[in-house]
Amino acid sequence: MVACTDCSVATKDQSQNPIFRKVLWIALLVNLFMFFVEIIASHIGDSMSLQADALDFFGDAANYAISLFVLGMALHMRARASVVKGVTMGLFGLWVLSAASYRAFSGSEPEPMIMGSIALMALVANMSVAVMLYRFREGDSNMQSIWLCSRNDAIGNVAVLIAAVGVTATASRWPDLMVAMIIASLSISAAYTILKLAFQEMRTVPEKSVIS
Ligand SMILES: [Zn+2]
Repeated sequence: MVACTDCSVATKDQSQNPIFRKVLWIALLVNLFMFFVEIIASHIGDSMSLQADALDFFGDAANYAISLFVLGMALHMRARASVVKGVTMGLFGLWVLSAASYRAFSGSEPEPMIMGSIALMALVANMSVAVMLYRFREGDSNMQSIWLCSRNDAIGNVAVLIAAVGVTATASRWPDLMVAMIIASLSISAAYTILKLAFQEMRTVPEKSVIS
C-alpha cells in the first residue's frame, strides 16, 4: 500500500523479455481481478477498509500496465502515464476518505466474515504475484522493490483482517472505518509523491532522453 509509489516492478531490459512479459501480464490480470473483487465485496459487505485496500490493487495494476506498455517509451511518456495514475489514485483515495467519514456519522454495518475472507484472498493473491516476480529479480534495487512492495501489500491486507476481527470484537463499525481512513490517507500521500516525481521528470528531462 504505502511504498507502492515506487514499485518499479520491471527494469527496461526485463520488460522486453517475452517470458517476463507473460509474468507481468498475469500480475496485471491478478491485480485488476482483485481490484474488482474488493470493490464488489466492499459494497456487499459494507466495508470501507476493503474499498481502501482495493486502491492498492489499482495502483499495482497500473504499475504492471506501465511496465508492459510504457516502460520502453521515452521518459516524458512514462511521466505522463504516472500523472494519470497519480491523479486517479488521489481522487480514489479522497473518495474513500470522504465516504468513510460520511459513514462515521451516518453509520455502517461492515460484515466481518466478508472482510476477513476477501482480505485472506488478497493476501494469497499478493504473495503469489510476489513469488512469481521474485524469480525475475534483477539487481539489488529491483529485488528490494519487489520485497518492499509485497511487504506493504501484505500489511494492507493484514490491516483489513485486523479490522474484521476488531469489528467482531467491538461489535462496531469503527475498526473498519479507522483502517479505511489510514489506508486512504497513505494512498493520497503516495499519489502526491507520484505526481510530484512525474512533474519533476516532465520539467527537467528534455524530450529526447536516453532511458536508463
Ligand atoms: Zn501494492
